[in-house]
Amino acid sequence: MAEDLKYPNASLYVLILAAEEVMGKNGLASVLNQGGLEYMAGKYPPNNLKQQVPFSLYGKIQQAIEDFYGPRGAKAILMRVGRALFRYSLHEQSKLLGFASLALKALPVNARMKLILSKIVKAGAEELSMPGAIEETSDAFIITRTACPCQFRERDPNIGVCDHVTIGTFQESLKWATGKNFRVKQTRCLNIGDDIDEFIVEKTPMDD
Ligand SMILES: [Zn+2]
Repeated sequence: MAEDLKYPNASLYVLILAAEEVMGKNGLASVLNQGGLEYMAGKYPPNNLKQQVPFSLYGKIQQAIEDFYGPRGAKAILMRVGRALFRYSLHEQSKLLGFASLALKALPVNARMKLILSKIVKAGAEELSMPGAIEETSDAFIITRTACPCQFRERDPNIGVCDHVTIGTFQESLKWATGKNFRVKQTRCLNIGDDIDEFIVEKTPMDD
């Protein structure tokens, strides 16, 4: 088992806000109760940058959502949570993520994509204990990381990749940066025995 790294409290705070937005207060409370996290129901973690949230807890909340809705239903919900997570992160933690100062308007779409994705990878590495990298090919960006809360989720590996929250976060960040929707898929996952998480972001927008 990997070392249980820590997230800042603010990361859990925005995850709770995002999950509430998607599932409702009562919905989230039901998920937490059923997932053995009843002590968290109806409560908010502190919104500060102290590194006090174990990866395992962050993963356990996502797993509770998957267990509650089933893998298929949970995928769409977790992606929506990821989208909301980006919006709350932008609002609550723009300094942490370094987005506030982004001058995007003058740039072509491809450069905007690269900039926002690189920012997220950098914030992941520097603030969230998730070392990662971004590569560019002619038709895609490939994002990898070597640590993730998914390493602490107990689930059937046959279900497949599980970082749908991350996919939603990438999609919403790209929408924010470019006004367009892009296809993002996870191709490798630490949870199912791969040595990295890997995400492919297609450069051609879905709306074109
Ligand atoms: Zn992962």
